[in-house]
Amino acid sequence: MTIGRLAPTPSGRLHLGNVCAFAGAWLSARADGGRLLLRIEDVDRGRSRLDVEADLRADLAWLGVQADAETPRQSSRDYGAVLAHLAPRLYHCRCTRAMRDEGLVATAGCPGGCADRGWPDGALRFRLRPGFASFVDRRWGRCESDPRAFGDPILVRRDGLVSYNLAVVADDIADGVSDVVRGSDLLEYTTVQMQLWEALGAPPPRWLHTPLVLGPDGRKLSKSHGSAHVGAMRDAGATPADVWRIVLPWLGLEGAGSLREALPRWDPAAGPRGPITLASP
Ligand SMILES: [Zn+2]
Repeated sequence: MTIGRLAPTPSGRLHLGNVCAFAGAWLSARADGGRLLLRIEDVDRGRSRLDVEADLRADLAWLGVQADAETPRQSSRDYGAVLAHLAPRLYHCRCTRAMRDEGLVATAGCPGGCADRGWPDGALRFRLRPGFASFVDRRWGRCESDPRAFGDPILVRRDGLVSYNLAVVADDIADGVSDVVRGSDLLEYTTVQMQLWEALGAPPPRWLHTPLVLGPDGRKLSKSHGSAHVGAMRDAGATPADVWRIVLPWLGLEGAGSLREALPRWDPAAGPRGPITLASP
């Protein structure tokens, strides 16, 4: 059975790029007669805010993007058993953020080559296997990337906080997720996460990467692109159908004013790969 998920991070308000990915997740699950889960990705407690979460829920309800059930929020989960299972491939890294920002990851897993140093403490990194890997994306077809180009992923930060990398894979496995739908900014990173799925003994999900949406300045959407946020559009008098007439063409579904109206025509491979650049408001 298809099990999809909506996994919003309550650190920023819902923008049109998020809406596109969530629409893809909703359509994909509904087209298969599957289930759709809602999971609040608040593992980064310092950046997560309850008022933002309330706004996200309100925006999703206004748009008609409903899930069938809600799974435990990340901040309530325990990742100890997962980390114990991965222990043979973990090592402590003492590289500073400045060292990481300078790059140098491609050769040694982390800038300082910590995998061979046997540090007793620091951030915990997951040792990737070398070599290109490929997967089939339902929109992009066969994709290939070198996971080590990103460096070994940090699973637990130096301050003890579990990272997105670990939480998202562990939660998808725990929640029985079979279909991951998300923005194309994570397309090449998929081969990194596939190694975590494999190390945890789970078959990887089907992948679908929706078009990345950029602001009029060509940058990824952020707080500075206020008019691309659902709440701002609603405040300016837009209806849900107005939002869908902008977003659904990015999924190959021109002219539909709601997800239900678009559902019979849903084809995960149809529509542009992106990126989509918004016009100036
Ligand atoms: Zn290091």
